[in-house]
Amino acid sequence: MSKMETLNVQVGSGEHSVVIGSSHPIVVQTMCNTPTGDVAATVEQCVRLSDAGAELIRITVPTLQDVENLRQIRKQLQERGIFRPLVADVHFSSDIAMALPGIADKIRINPGNFHPVHEKARERFAALLEKCKAYGTAIRIGINHGSLGAYITEKYGNTPEAMALAAMEWLEMAIAADYQSKIVISLKASNTVVMVGAYRALGRMMQERGVVVPLHVGVTEAGNGDTGRIKSAVAIATLLEEGIGNTIRVSLTEPPENELPTAYYLAERYGLPHAEVPEIPEREMLDVACKWGPQLMNGTIQDFDCADASLHDEIMQACRKKFYKPEYIACPGCGRTLYDLQGTFERVKAATAGFQDVVIAVMGCIVNGHGEMADADYGYVGEGRGLVTLYRRRTPVLRHVPEAEAVEKLVALIREDKK
Ligand code: SF4
Repeated sequence: MSKMETLNVQVGSGEHSVVIGSSHPIVVQTMCNTPTGDVAATVEQCVRLSDAGAELIRITVPTLQDVENLRQIRKQLQERGIFRPLVADVHFSSDIAMALPGIADKIRINPGNFHPVHEKARERFAALLEKCKAYGTAIRIGINHGSLGAYITEKYGNTPEAMALAAMEWLEMAIAADYQSKIVISLKASNTVVMVGAYRALGRMMQERGVVVPLHVGVTEAGNGDTGRIKSAVAIATLLEEGIGNTIRVSLTEPPENELPTAYYLAERYGLPHAEVPEIPEREMLDVACKWGPQLMNGTIQDFDCADASLHDEIMQACRKKFYKPEYIACPGCGRTLYDLQGTFERVKAATAGFQDVVIAVMGCIVNGHGEMADADYGYVGEGRGLVTLYRRRTPVLRHVPEAEAVEKLVALIREDKK
């Protein structure tokens, strides 16, 4: 395996900075799921994540008040001797993004969502590039399959290439501002085939352009348990085996510290050894997933023999070769999550396990949830205040459903459609 050569992006400054790029080990990261306004809980979670080996920690910043909360979180972590670089996760608001340089070490944005008028989104991204440049703040351009935006889908369609082209436009702006050395890109999707195709396309496009920035690789809304781990593993392994990927996140609808063993397994298997590798209880399962997954994803094999039938079926479904049960999309949750996501996801899975040929999404918030469940046939999306909106594909069909009734109503909706 030869790594795709990339620029090296320093996140943070001084001895505690982390470098993402092809001449460094794969960086393992995760994200808090505590409300950012609960500074004490977020600090405690960051401490646990840092102790468990997270090299970068992302925290959602949904409001301007949360910029101040992030400053407090950072200060309290440093008082406790924790200097892990912090990544601010921003959606839609360029004002919030503009307030973060100097507080966050890296800002994750999708510039296309800064404004519905594309030219205005470009102006705001140009301003952000200048502000980040003044502080040396790194930027992740994070494009998700489900939230490409009308400008991109009308121009290029809703394809892996469209995701790569969307990223290239923002990268060109960073190059024009001479700030490419601080840019990382991600192109996430919950569909493993779409996700792998998008990163491959972007790798090709950047190599043709002659500017290759590091890639943050992950499957979004992968779910939980063995299914979520295997889905992430087959897709991330396929790319890492081709030398694509410099930092990874294994998104699980579980406590974020649970993501780290699988992420470390992948970082170790395909990268340079890390100094602090945690215990990896799922090593045997991941060995099988990483042996067969990339071959299935590449189409060099169509099936494989495995003594463990349920592991075989999980891997086949993760690679989208055969579907044995409903396909679940569940966001990992973050500070925006509006209900008991993990418990609800389990209840939805138990109630819908008997359906076939159906994709069901369980999303933590209405702000991003409905946009990001790109492939779902049905969606369960938290509104807040104990209420839920149920979707049939992109259309909200039942709004303001009390949580206590929502799973039952979702099942009734699917059953009615299947008649
Ligand atoms: S969809 Fe889930 S992970 Fe994404 S912002 Fe909403 S709660 Fe957070």
